[in-house]
Amino acid sequence: HHVADEEIALALIDLDSFKQVNDHYGHVIGDQLIRQCAEIMREICGEEARCYRLGGDEFAITMMGPVAGNILEGICRKIIERLGKPLQLGKREVVVGASIGLSRSNGRDGLGSSELLRRSDVAMYASKRAGKMRCTWFSEDLDRNREAQREMDTELRRALANEEFQMHYQPLVDAESREIVAVEALIRWTRADGQQVGPHIFIPVAEESGFINAIGVWALRRACTDALAWDGIMLSVNISAAQLRNPEFPIQLGHILEETGFPAERLELEITETCLVLDPVVAERNLAVIRGFGVNISLDDFGTGYASIGFLRQFRFEKLKLDRSLVVDAGSDEGSRAMMLSSITVARALNMGVTAEGVETEEQATMVRAAGCDQIQGWLFYKAMPADQIDQHLSRAAAASEWPQPAIYKGVA
Ligand code: C2E
Ligand code: MG
Ligand code: MG
Repeated sequence: HHVADEEIALALIDLDSFKQVNDHYGHVIGDQLIRQCAEIMREICGEEARCYRLGGDEFAITMMGPVAGNILEGICRKIIERLGKPLQLGKREVVVGASIGLSRSNGRDGLGSSELLRRSDVAMYASKRAGKMRCTWFSEDLDRNREAQREMDTELRRALANEEFQMHYQPLVDAESREIVAVEALIRWTRADGQQVGPHIFIPVAEESGFINAIGVWALRRACTDALAWDGIMLSVNISAAQLRNPEFPIQLGHILEETGFPAERLELEITETCLVLDPVVAERNLAVIRGFGVNISLDDFGTGYASIGFLRQFRFEKLKLDRSLVVDAGSDEGSRAMMLSSITVARALNMGVTAEGVETEEQATMVRAAGCDQIQGWLFYKAMPADQIDQHLSRAAAASEWPQPAIYKGVA
């Protein structure tokens, strides 16, 4: 044997929805599932590769030889394909899915088995983040990304302690009267050096580390405190998947409502479909408790993911928010228009309110109103602004309604 022949490849396999199956159907079924998956992997590996269970729902496969990496990648693809199909568990059919990370050593680079394991783990998480049911090779870029994420996470912790977050509020208007009927709380981060960082950048990082739970509690408390004075106006707060999955969340929410005295009936939590897809069991349980408080639930960003119309029937929402991309596309594309109209029809039949997001033009406002949206949010009417500016808009609107002025109050900041 030549040293150069000794390529070593390591695959780390994590089952995508094992936890849900285990929580939902119990440990006996969970154990059966693990055994079936192990069986499948062993069968696909054959004599060529060695398969291990690392614990829980994690498996590893190792392979040695001149082109071990390529062969192992082929094996992994077969495993993903096979586990992407339903497995028979007693009378049930379950699709468990698998995410895989791959790494290799050429025998000369001095990578030990613990480094290979670490690299495959990093790659496996990249597979999860990219949408699961796939395999990813480790690369140095993945490490750099992770390093950058860790740094940002540390900064976020500091930012919360240093009060670098602010809440801004974007008014939603009634589609007919164009009066402010609600505000959506949107978080902002102004770093000590004055640089603004958008939520699209830091929320995903905070989600990954779990720190979103602390940020989310802060955001909710701040928003309930600010909005207390905005009588008759609904308050929407975005809730991330990690928060909804947190069994503590309903308790935290209850405390905040009590502490601030904010009426539950005026609060609306915006969730996205991913919140419900990832861990439907805990999420549904939490939603039931939250609903029990009298808090409303809106489905945010509808039309971007795979949330179908069937989804609306399966879970109950008080409100549907049509994503800006759907609103924009509906202006030009027949298919998007049809999808928008049919989702509005279903939402209406299920007694849900419908808000169009990201309305920037008068044409869009007219179109979504004609399509049946009852509320509109977008820069045509208002951008997000600090609490004191909302105070001003609302008091001006109140003053205007006391005088015989034009019925349509259209505030332009
Ligand atoms: P979202 O919940 O869908 O919020 C609407 C986003 O659309 C906001 O971006 C808003 O500023 C933007 N927008 C509103 N009207 C228009 C318009 O007419 N045109 C365009 N181009 N954009 C418009 P923002 O504030 O950057 O927030 C982005 C996302 O970050 C939010 O999307 C939400 O998913 C998340 N987010 C914001 N605040 C929080 C928070 O406190 N907690 C959590 N978990 N997520 C948050
Ligand atoms: Mg939202
Ligand atoms: Mg949205």
